[in-house]
Amino acid sequence: YPTVNVLGVNFTKITNHALRTQLIADSQQHLNRFVVTANPEIVLYARHDPAYARVIQQADYITADGIGIIKGAQLLHTPLPERVTGFDTLVALLAFAAQNNKRVFLLGAKSAVLELTVAHLHAQYPHLKIVGYHDGYFDDAAQVAAEITASAPDFVFVALGFPKQEFFIAKYRSCASAIWMGVGGSFDVLAG
Ligand code: UDP
Repeated sequence: YPTVNVLGVNFTKITNHALRTQLIADSQQHLNRFVVTANPEIVLYARHDPAYARVIQQADYITADGIGIIKGAQLLHTPLPERVTGFDTLVALLAFAAQNNKRVFLLGAKSAVLELTVAHLHAQYPHLKIVGYHDGYFDDAAQVAAEITASAPDFVFVALGFPKQEFFIAKYRSCASAIWMGVGGSFDVLAG
């Protein structure tokens, strides 16, 4: 996919529909993929933290998660097609996973919130295979990564907020050949 540079971040020129289709195809091929849905806060943070900027550069797809990014790209005469949020992409991929027997691992949020998220997802998608989950307040990241490996997921959704979730994914994505995506506060929303 072509990219569009907005304030140093190379955004993927992709629609919601194209991203979902691409991630589903990548998943069917068991490819290891890292998705960043970048909002203006992420872009500004990356400008001030070179280590974070390097992590973002490792993403396979960087989507514009904010109208500010869309407007910025327009002003630069290199428009991006539309806003692609982490939450919408998460919901679409969960529905796909439920319908296609794909394996999902959820990492992040407070333990009580995550339990509610898992319960709600089981109620909404009775066939969804949540093969593992872990709250986002852990000391031993390597142990969490080992759990992810053992669960053999197709999708790993990481809700540690930025910049933590991207640092975690960049460091540990090799532990499972899956679609990895940072989803911010999405589990809190799904918990109700
Ligand atoms: N979180 C976490 N571990 C941490 C810090 C945050 O699991 O060490 C979770 C937090 O409980 C919340 C999410 O990460 O579910 C952060 O949401 P927020 O809306 O602040 O993130 P953003 O969307 O701004 O990235």
